Amino acid sequence: MQGAIPDAPRWGEILEVFRSRVNQQQFNTWFSRLTPLSITEELARLAVPNIFSRDWLNNYYLPVIREGIKAVLGTEPAVEIAVVESAEVVPTTPDRAGEPPPPAPPATASFAPDQSGLRRNPRYPNFVSDVVLNDHYVFDAFVVGPSNKLPHAASLAVAEQPALAYNPLFLHGSVGLGKTHLLQAICRTLLERRKDMKILYLSCEFFVNHFISAVKGGDLREFRNRYRRADMLLIDDINFLARKEQTQEEFFHTFNALYSSGKQIVLSSDSPPKDIPTLEERLVSRFRWGLVAEIEPPDFETRILIVKRKSRLRGHEFADDICEFVAERFTGNIRELEGAVLKIFSVADLLKKAPDLGVARDALRPLLSAGRRKITVDRIIAEVTRYYEVRQADLQSRRRSKSIAFPRQVGMYLARRLTDHSLEEIGGYFGGRDHTTVIYATEKINRLWNRDRKFKEELEALIREIEG
Ligand code: ADP
Ligand code: MG
Repeated sequence: MQGAIPDAPRWGEILEVFRSRVNQQQFNTWFSRLTPLSITEELARLAVPNIFSRDWLNNYYLPVIREGIKAVLGTEPAVEIAVVESAEVVPTTPDRAGEPPPPAPPATASFAPDQSGLRRNPRYPNFVSDVVLNDHYVFDAFVVGPSNKLPHAASLAVAEQPALAYNPLFLHGSVGLGKTHLLQAICRTLLERRKDMKILYLSCEFFVNHFISAVKGGDLREFRNRYRRADMLLIDDINFLARKEQTQEEFFHTFNALYSSGKQIVLSSDSPPKDIPTLEERLVSRFRWGLVAEIEPPDFETRILIVKRKSRLRGHEFADDICEFVAERFTGNIRELEGAVLKIFSVADLLKKAPDLGVARDALRPLLSAGRRKITVDRIIAEVTRYYEVRQADLQSRRRSKSIAFPRQVGMYLARRLTDHSLEEIGGYFGGRDHTTVIYATEKINRLWNRDRKFKEELEALIREIEG
């Protein structure tokens, strides 16, 4: 963290005490970025990068912090946690350290955040959100491929010409494929270019909770005013409206008010409008007025590009063989790809080596081989032939008829997923096919897996069989 100088004596030892009192994950999340500003006998001033960490530490971990300091320094100073520097947001109410509340320009007062949990971003006074914008979620960092070309182009168009290009823009796709990234990229672009635009960017969960508390508190008018004053409303994960009829009704009116006054609306969802359970028909039809665009799981080439890009962003672009190694094995979503990249960097760090293929194999082995050691391709073939009622000899033959080709593709897919064999080896098991055939098969089945819920369930059952 910039700004905080870890100058307190024996801070390292104090950290070790913290580490011994909480579990690894808690330590990483809450303590690893905690730094001392100054520690005297009376007062320990510590810093964290954001208010979430500060509040969380204040609420749950003060005893641990006090104990840690006492154990090492033998003193019991009061503990004060400040938000320092890189913090993007400022608290909406004055905090304990006495920071002033954020300025609220009179002209936009009615748009200003309040006690509800909405925050204002000091860099962008016209931006109100319950979420902290991620600096990495910008268009420049978004890798475009066939799977996300349309949603990407549509998002760019909205950022160029709000309310004129597509309204509403409805992005859907399963988790970890870049919906939030695109929504935030739209926000970021407009915040930089159009300082006058009032942008409201919310998680759907926030909208729902805010609505419920407005109803309870009897200040619905307040609630409505706020939402209808935005020039652009983006709601992430709108599928959260499922089974919340009252909020749907309210959102319907919000939507109409904004839409009819020419304001841009952008929504994201894990499924297309018609598949959101119990979503009112009139909302379904409105969501389709503009453009509904699906983000699909990235194909092999795009995954390679993503791994390349992510590694470059972290300061060391991986060689092609590592990128392919990762892209072959992590076929689901982009967050997994990112996780793999991080893992490789952390193991390389540990080994004090530059990331190479060997490091990548070591780093990812635990992620890849959990519980898969016993699974052999033979076992997969046995289960697949049983399930699809085909003969093993056919599966391993060169016959191309559909009734054989499909189970064979499933077999290759499962072998990729459940074993550590290389593409070539897998091709060998299935009648001497080359690696491109194996890639083609796995991509195809992967797409089906993501699209077709029933197929996915069948395959999951089959996997359970194979895993015994
Ligand atoms: P979603 O909202 O669809 O669940 P996110 O937008 O949170 O997914 O994306 C998950 C992670 O993957 C984020 O870190 C995001 O930056 C990254 N990501 C997603 N799509 C891309 C892409 N096309 N290029 C680069 N990074 C991406
Ligand atoms: Mg998201």
